[in-house]
Amino acid sequence: MKQVISDLPDERYAGTRVLVRVDFNVAMKDARIREDYRLRQALPTIEYLAQRGARVILASHLGKPKGTVVPALSLRPIADRLAQTVRASAVKFVPDVIGASVTDAVAALKSGEILLLENLRFHPGEESNDPGFSRQLAALGDIYVSDAFGTVHRAHASTYGAATLFQERLAGFLVQKEMEVLDQVRDHPTRPFTVVVGGIKIKDKLSALKALISKADAVLLGGGIAYSFLAADGVAVGDSPVEHDYVPWAKEMLTRYREKLLLPEDHVVAKSLEDRGSMRHAHGAIPPGWKGCDIGRDAVLTYTHELLRGRGTIFWNGPLGVFEVDEFAEGTVDIARAMALAHWRGAFTVIGGGDTVAALHKAEVWETEVTHISTGGGASLQYIGGDELPGIAVLTEKP
Ligand code: ADP
Ligand code: MG
Repeated sequence: MKQVISDLPDERYAGTRVLVRVDFNVAMKDARIREDYRLRQALPTIEYLAQRGARVILASHLGKPKGTVVPALSLRPIADRLAQTVRASAVKFVPDVIGASVTDAVAALKSGEILLLENLRFHPGEESNDPGFSRQLAALGDIYVSDAFGTVHRAHASTYGAATLFQERLAGFLVQKEMEVLDQVRDHPTRPFTVVVGGIKIKDKLSALKALISKADAVLLGGGIAYSFLAADGVAVGDSPVEHDYVPWAKEMLTRYREKLLLPEDHVVAKSLEDRGSMRHAHGAIPPGWKGCDIGRDAVLTYTHELLRGRGTIFWNGPLGVFEVDEFAEGTVDIARAMALAHWRGAFTVIGGGDTVAALHKAEVWETEVTHISTGGGASLQYIGGDELPGIAVLTEKP
């Protein structure tokens, strides 16, 4: 068990500089915030610290500026949004990550005030976990708090290197909540435990897939990864994406867990993703020259039936088709709605994955209609898979 900010006595925070790694990597469009779920999820920690008189220093990345200053990825609009949302006496912004302007801004920060630093990834030292950069970051605070679940699987300066230099390294409330929910899914799922996995790149999902397949009562496969399983099962998949390196593994899984692994029995196929007009329905084998782009009607019915079987636990990662294209979104949208219905009927539903969450929005399923939407895509999968996450390993254990 990790130490959480609420484990320290309130007095410890008064006047103390607390460096909080947050995940403000929100969805942006034209330098405006399109969706601020991650920011809202960080508010409980920020307000808790500010209300106890801490001097709160927030650090985050946004997008992938790759170590250089990209004005469109500035955190300034996020500071403005934070100022509108958070209950605190002041929200300040400094357009740098380290250096004199930052140390001055920190020195001027009063109890209960918040200071947001500029995008961490404007500096090359962040992603390379540079020791000098880590030292400068760490010098800004007296206590370290991690509330950026979306990046705990990265050993970057702000998530790892700088953190190691603090005596007190605490989990914020968001990281605590993510761990509790994912522990529940991984270690104590209520039954039936149903897992839905789609998307692409078996490699990224391998540890989670292994952990989940052995524990689940049913695993519903879809998306690009389903074709590697179908190919392993000897079904013709035409030109659908098959990850040949993983076909033998998929075959082994099918041999060991045949009764709980469900593969889509039908598909929406097209000649190519661009040629939407060629779209048609295919039951069973997919002919050469055609690609599976979405699960079909029958698969949707079978999967919906599975999802509504009882008030157990449901975990979902990975869209079931190329949901970004309207013609291939129906399977994913229907499954998202079935999931909301299952939740309404009492199931514990947890969803993770950047694209999966985007698909949920496309289906107009809102965050109140599921138990938990993880703020971490890769991080949630690695956590479920039991991998060691540097940003969590670095946190202080409860005595
Ligand atoms: P997440 O980000 O939720 O973890 P992934 O990144 O694994 O999900 O997968 C999302 C991507 O998978 C989407 O871009 C989607 O278009 C793609 N995808 C889903 N089904 C297919 C398919 N049948 N063929 C090709 N790509 C697919
Ligand atoms: Mg993705």
